Amino acid sequence: MLRATFQQGTTRDLKWRRTQLLALDTFLVECEAEIARALHDDLRKSPAESFLTETNFLRGEIRFALRHLKSWMKPHRVLVPLIYQPAKAHYSREPYGVVLIIGAWNYPLQLCLAPLISALAAGNCAVIKPSEQAPHTSAVIATRLKDYLDRSAICVIEGGVEEGKALLEQRFDYIFYTGSQEIGQKVMLAAARHLTPLTLELGGKCPCIVDEDADIKIAARRIVWAKFLNAGQTCLAPDYLLVHEKRTDELFLSMQQAITDFYGADPRQSPDYPRIINEHHLQRLQMLLEGTTLSCGGDTDSVDRYVAPTILRGVRPESPLMQSEIFGPLLPVMAYRELDEALAFIRQGKEPLAIYLFSSDRQVQERVLRHSRSGGLCINDLLFQAAIHSLPFGGFGGSGFGAYHGRAGFETFSCQRSVLHRALHPDPDLRYPPYGIRKIGFLRRLVSGVT
Ligand code: NAD
Repeated sequence: MLRATFQQGTTRDLKWRRTQLLALDTFLVECEAEIARALHDDLRKSPAESFLTETNFLRGEIRFALRHLKSWMKPHRVLVPLIYQPAKAHYSREPYGVVLIIGAWNYPLQLCLAPLISALAAGNCAVIKPSEQAPHTSAVIATRLKDYLDRSAICVIEGGVEEGKALLEQRFDYIFYTGSQEIGQKVMLAAARHLTPLTLELGGKCPCIVDEDADIKIAARRIVWAKFLNAGQTCLAPDYLLVHEKRTDELFLSMQQAITDFYGADPRQSPDYPRIINEHHLQRLQMLLEGTTLSCGGDTDSVDRYVAPTILRGVRPESPLMQSEIFGPLLPVMAYRELDEALAFIRQGKEPLAIYLFSSDRQVQERVLRHSRSGGLCINDLLFQAAIHSLPFGGFGGSGFGAYHGRAGFETFSCQRSVLHRALHPDPDLRYPPYGIRKIGFLRRLVSGVT
């Protein structure tokens, strides 16, 4: 049905795109309480966190798209060289057709609907598969979205690995996947069978450097906020800290203070501190804690799926903590003497989604920018690079490829089409065979002189 809808051409109209975006906004407003309850049931997210990182972000993304959509859709005229005149040429962005969006569980609403905003803005039909690991949010998306959006163009398929595999058997015109590197590879293999273009939004280990001149108090507050938001289950969270050796003790103290300021003496009692998504991830984090040296935290409770905000000192590069993405509230800290050491360490691993740096020294900032690679870089803060609708958001190398948010999302979900419109007259013989020596000589002079 979706393909038939796309072929009818309805979704290409500016009016249809705007209507769907406005309807999505109405869904976010009218279902806000239901969404907040689902996010609380899945991850124990507080209403404030749900508002800030899920619904409010999405509403901002919709407003941004509505404001700019007309200009994004405008064809770009280009000059036609004299030799091809009389003619007019332009290129424009066209929808791919029927796209598949596969979301992950950690921001289960945002990771399905932000790509959907881009897909609708670009005039596509879409199939959305939310993550089965966040079943309450998945259910809200599946049961409520259809009351707002064009059912002939957008549908939600709930399910897990088997449903995901079955969807990938179908031919889609574009695939947008958010999740782990391991599954990302499988999605890419499946896409290759149909030569389907795709975006992979993956994870990785995002480092945060705190250099010698950093403002430690502010760095500590911002790092603690970014790391323990959603209990560390954020693809962009600082995975580990690289701290100048002269500032480590001071940073440990300030981070401990920030944890108490934000979540109280017992974070388990804080209404603002979320829980681990499931038993599997809880056990994985408990195993990572074994044999580590705590600076603070370390408590876990399997029944409550609770892992305290935890900071670990004396971590060695060969520690299990440093072998893969932590994706939980454990923050290993390693000291360095020279910035080059820290940069060399980052370069040894796969390219992360983000690199963070706390330093006000322009030369240090420039060195980090030049000698590292990542999807994004944020200086003196964390996470906000992904909140700015006009900044493309995406990975690089190990953290994926392709980008979305704002115009980048519109471009991701549309393909470029070039159109040349030639006049029928004149139609000189020059280009047609037989060529002969005189014609070729004339053509050579014409081409080299006129183009
Ligand atoms: P997940 O288990 O929710 O899987 C993601 C999606 O893939 C789900 O919808 C799942 O059902 C589906 N899936 C699983 N196996 C599949 C298969 N064989 N075929 C088709 N679909 C399949 O999430 P996850 O993978 O645990 O996600 C966590 C990872 O995602 C972390 O690495 C995190 O860093 C990354 N992440 C990245 C971003 C980003 O924007 N770059 C955002 C959030 C999370």
